[in-house]
Amino acid sequence: MQYAMLEIGIKCPKCDGPVPLNGPLETAHCDRCQADIDVPHEFWKDILSDIHEEVKGELEVGDGRQSTIFGTFNVTLTYYHVPPHCTKCDTAFEVDEGLTQPYTHTCAECGRKVEVLPAPEWLVKEYPPAKILIDATPATAGVEGAEKGKEMEKAAVSTPIAFTCPQCGGTLLVDGSDRLVRCQYCSVDVYLPDDLWLRMHPAKVKESWLVGFS
Ligand SMILES: [Zn+2]
Ligand SMILES: [Zn+2]
Ligand SMILES: [Zn+2]
Repeated sequence: MQYAMLEIGIKCPKCDGPVPLNGPLETAHCDRCQADIDVPHEFWKDILSDIHEEVKGELEVGDGRQSTIFGTFNVTLTYYHVPPHCTKCDTAFEVDEGLTQPYTHTCAECGRKVEVLPAPEWLVKEYPPAKILIDATPATAGVEGAEKGKEMEKAAVSTPIAFTCPQCGGTLLVDGSDRLVRCQYCSVDVYLPDDLWLRMHPAKVKESWLVGFS
């Protein structure tokens, strides 16, 4: 089996904002304009088959490529031919390549939980050599993963931040659960400004994930 680590992002077709694809997503979400973007199966087939060609061809272990692709989307892609490893501390590990269920590998070096999962059915159908995903966005693991994703989003909401009511100057404590906050002193509805909102809801950033090809 050969593994590639990739980092991929597209430009939002609606607002040109950066949208990371931290796994083979069927739907991506733009944090800037809130658009949901359909990512066609064929897009993944094209990307993954190109990467696979390279890793089984001339790309030596440890080497990588960077490319910008203009097609369905405006894509920025970086990938490397690598052994399976923890994306945080680079420690390599053995993957159970016969897996049928997702499992968690605990990194021997840094203790991080590394998610190893079989590629979703649609992906295997689209591009059969793609078999295993490592550290890919949980949404790929089906319903369970999606639930986990939601929990992680909730957890991202930080401890309350003090904010001054623009109408009466009263101090409001906001927790990021709602962008529209009612001032407890003057009862005006305050729409939280971008910088504050983004601090409580940081935009997703690109993260590396791995694909195993057979
Ligand atoms: Zn957008
Ligand atoms: Zn590690
Ligand atoms: Zn007020």
